[in-house]
Amino acid sequence: MAIRYVKINKKHEALLDQSQKLIQKRISDQRHVIPIKLLEELKALLDPENLGTVVDLHVTQDTQSNWASGGSCVKLHPRCFDDWQEKGSVTRDPPRLTAVLLHELVHFALGTELDAEFFENRLFTRHDGAVLPTEEDEEEFKDSHYTGVYVAMNSKTREVTDRSKPELVLGSLARATKLAPKPLPQPKTLDNAEAPMANDKQEKLAEVRIQKMAERKRQVGIRIVVEFTGYVKKSDLNKVMGGIRDAVYPNVEGNGGGGS
Ligand SMILES: [Zn+2]
Repeated sequence: MAIRYVKINKKHEALLDQSQKLIQKRISDQRHVIPIKLLEELKALLDPENLGTVVDLHVTQDTQSNWASGGSCVKLHPRCFDDWQEKGSVTRDPPRLTAVLLHELVHFALGTELDAEFFENRLFTRHDGAVLPTEEDEEEFKDSHYTGVYVAMNSKTREVTDRSKPELVLGSLARATKLAPKPLPQPKTLDNAEAPMANDKQEKLAEVRIQKMAERKRQVGIRIVVEFTGYVKKSDLNKVMGGIRDAVYPNVEGNGGGGS
């Protein structure tokens, strides 16, 4: 086999076979966007009869590593085999195996990061598991003057050309939009108050805020909803509750005043 599975379980083998077939299909559908030398290399790698080149493929046990790493063999992170990933309840990530495998095969064929990223994104969509270059990748493109082994990219237009036929535009490589800042934590209410962490400043902030809200609510005489903008230690909750009670019902018995 041109790609030799090393100590890979049956389930992963089946997924890898599927991925190889999909890559084969994609490179024959899209052969006009792949430089001829790279196309030959990829075909040889994916040809089980071709024993001239053998790539050992492992699934790494090192779960700290990236999606995959290349070199004399290809090591895939176990999460490459994950099915659709739940991310919160909104977005889901498609399985990445096929796109990652193609990316690593381009490296195995001596392609640089620019080559690998371009073909990953040219042959596969986001839905197929392709991922746009990271900031780190962008740095690497820059360091290599936007020139790979097979392709070159115009850094302004992001248009990618075949290095062996510079007039031939193969497509373009989109730039990832900057990651949106992390959403702020949901304000806590007394009902779901938890105290994973607290510091003096947060406690103080929460206290002031509670005080202010309580005052306002008392003035307009409506139901009290307490909102924490910071965290409060569980052990301090009683104190906080007492503070609210005092602020809202200053005249209730036991709160230092006589009720009517
Ligand atoms: Zn890479």
